[in-house]
Amino acid sequence: MTQQNGHPKIGVYVCHCGINIADKVDIEQLVAFASSLPFVAVAREYKFMCSDPGQELIEQDLRDGLIDRVVVAACSPLMHEGTFRHATEEGGANPFLYQHANIREHVSWVTQDGKLATDKAKALVAAAVRRVALAEPLERKRVPIKDEALIVGGGIAGIEAALVLASAGRKVYLVEREPSIGGHMAMFDKTFPTLDCAACILTPKMVQVGQHPNVEILSYSEVEEVSGYVGNFKVRVRRKARYIDEELCTGCGVCIEKCPWKNVPSEFDQGLTERSVVYMPFPQAVPRIPVIDRENCVYFKNGKCGACKKFCPRDAVDFEQEDRIVELEVGAVILSTGFKPFDATRIPLYGYGRFPNVITSLEFERMLNAAGPTGGNVVMKDGRVPRRVGIVHCVGSRNQNYNAHCSTVCCMYSLKFAHLVHERTGAEVYNFYIDMRTAGKGYEDFYHRLMAEGTHFVRGRVAEVTDVPQVPEEEGHLVVQVEDTLIGVVRRIPLDMIILSVGMEPQADSADVRRLFGVSASADGFFLEKHPKLAPTSTLTDGVFVAGACQGPKDIPASVAQGQGAAAQALALIDGAFMELEPNTAYVTEELCSGCKTCIGLCPYNALEFNEERKVVVLNEPLCKGCGTCVAACPSGALQQHLFNDEQILEEIRGVLVSG
Ligand SMILES: Cc1cc2nc3c(=O)[nH]c(=O)nc-3n(C[C@H](O)[C@H](O)[C@H](O)COP(=O)(O)OP(=O)(O)OC[C@H]3O[C@@H](n4cnc5c(N)ncnc54)[C@H](O)[C@@H]3O)c2cc1C
Ligand code: SF4
Ligand code: SF4
Repeated sequence: MTQQNGHPKIGVYVCHCGINIADKVDIEQLVAFASSLPFVAVAREYKFMCSDPGQELIEQDLRDGLIDRVVVAACSPLMHEGTFRHATEEGGANPFLYQHANIREHVSWVTQDGKLATDKAKALVAAAVRRVALAEPLERKRVPIKDEALIVGGGIAGIEAALVLASAGRKVYLVEREPSIGGHMAMFDKTFPTLDCAACILTPKMVQVGQHPNVEILSYSEVEEVSGYVGNFKVRVRRKARYIDEELCTGCGVCIEKCPWKNVPSEFDQGLTERSVVYMPFPQAVPRIPVIDRENCVYFKNGKCGACKKFCPRDAVDFEQEDRIVELEVGAVILSTGFKPFDATRIPLYGYGRFPNVITSLEFERMLNAAGPTGGNVVMKDGRVPRRVGIVHCVGSRNQNYNAHCSTVCCMYSLKFAHLVHERTGAEVYNFYIDMRTAGKGYEDFYHRLMAEGTHFVRGRVAEVTDVPQVPEEEGHLVVQVEDTLIGVVRRIPLDMIILSVGMEPQADSADVRRLFGVSASADGFFLEKHPKLAPTSTLTDGVFVAGACQGPKDIPASVAQGQGAAAQALALIDGAFMELEPNTAYVTEELCSGCKTCIGLCPYNALEFNEERKVVVLNEPLCKGCGTCVAACPSGALQQHLFNDEQILEEIRGVLVSG
């Protein structure tokens, strides 16, 4: 520590932040006040301290030996603490001999009166000066990083992330809980706004990821346990028994063909077709290995049948197979677990489940698909072609009773449906919408194209779908009752078929996945990113990234972009070979530890354990996130925290109290 006569020499730098701070805080007065504080050797002001010339002021004063520790009074440390620690280091001092005073968010932005704001800024500067006087130089520890990555969820976002990482030469484990990767996109026929065939653009990617030497797909698998920390995660994955030996199976499909039990509703076809007990969800599945659905398998019920085993040319069927646990060690994790469609039965007034010709958008996607239940023909339950089709937007979205959020894709996919209904049936189409949201490249053009095609647009939330006629024209039809808000009248529109454009919700198990990986949720339940604008694919847990619809409703282009972004972030991390840990961890003074163990259960990151030999608590430093929970709880004061020890905090409080 470069101190003169044992005293620290503190430099205080006050930022105007343009007029953000200077408009309310009297900068001149604040600098004069700072100069008068004990141990302050230099006090300066600058318009933008974070700019290069601003930082240079600090660096030069340090190099000239005028100061040996630094206080910057500026905006939030969340934005610029790193910047000024770096400047302190560049000037030749330890970067932790630095203290930040937030006089923007805590003062100028929240205080109307200029005098009050200046007084408050003085108090915060005095506090920071007192605290920095007690700061100690700290070193960042370096820990090695595993250069492999885990991706959880094999939809388009996860596939894209896997391909980026694998192409950069990194080993990737892609864990998918279903028998095949592909996610929701694999169910679609065409994709908006370009109407390209979903399979034509998705299948090559699925094949590429399936064949990539750097990607190991763990399908029909789920993560069970996660421990460790950024750069060094240990993950236990349950590989559910398929009852088919993956090494032996060639995917010939003989077992599927020979299985006599073909009456299980197909999950992939939304229950509109039936599949056999041994099945692949869809023809382009990756990996191309069937699964025996144990619950419905007659062999597992009564030991009879076994046709699949009898006919398999590779003797790959293995009824004795059990779940396996695979242990992985990875440096980074990308969560890309996607979304769950809103359950339309939650709105009984729309008649889903009661009226056979009220169907959901995912059911309609399957109907449109040439490989789907109707071979791509748009038909009603009785096989007739509908003459009038209604598409109800925002089902379960933008509604305080269900989900307040906008699902962002429903307007666009409803327009896609309207076009495809026209194209395949010539039927009259009504789109019932609240607001038309077509913000995306080429999306507005697509909307205009639909208007030109003669689609009817009715602006209003559908109140009810009924089959009770009020006039002869309604006989034998479903009727949508809606207030048309553009003309201010309640309308009843008779239709043959109604498609409910269900919104996107977080996956049913998203809270469990969040808990496993230490990720938070935003108010709508989707995974919370670190910063909505500046770190949209990072999370508050270092080394865990998010991509795609698990972070919030989004379309395919945005999911792909996030997959690529998350992969780039993960790559930047694992490419480093080593990483530096922030030194703001807890530490134990063993002589003071009574061994009461109060702290151990409280640590949310399992960073503390008891040493039976020495009868004291010890800290696993890389696991500690510096939350301070244990420090506050320790009854004997044995736990303290670097950068936040009691003495420093008390001195900071004194600074606030005595400044006025
Ligand atoms: C009816 C409908 C039509 C649409 N049409 C279009 C369109 O035309 N164009 C467009 O751009 N967008 C469209 N979308 C939006 C599109 O579906 C999404 O943008 C896209 O699917 C998001 O991809 P994803 O990979 O994030 O999630 P998903 O596709 O949901 O994939 C997530 C994957 O993660 C797996 N998973 C989930 N939880 C776990 C777990 N715990 N462990 C392991 N694996 C897990 C799932 O099984 C799944 O394979 C449509 C959406 C709907 C509902
Ligand atoms: S018959 Fe055998 S080799 Fe063919 S798909 Fe079934 S399990 Fe695989
Ligand atoms: S500071 Fe928080 S993370 Fe670190 S050991 Fe204590 S409780 Fe655990």
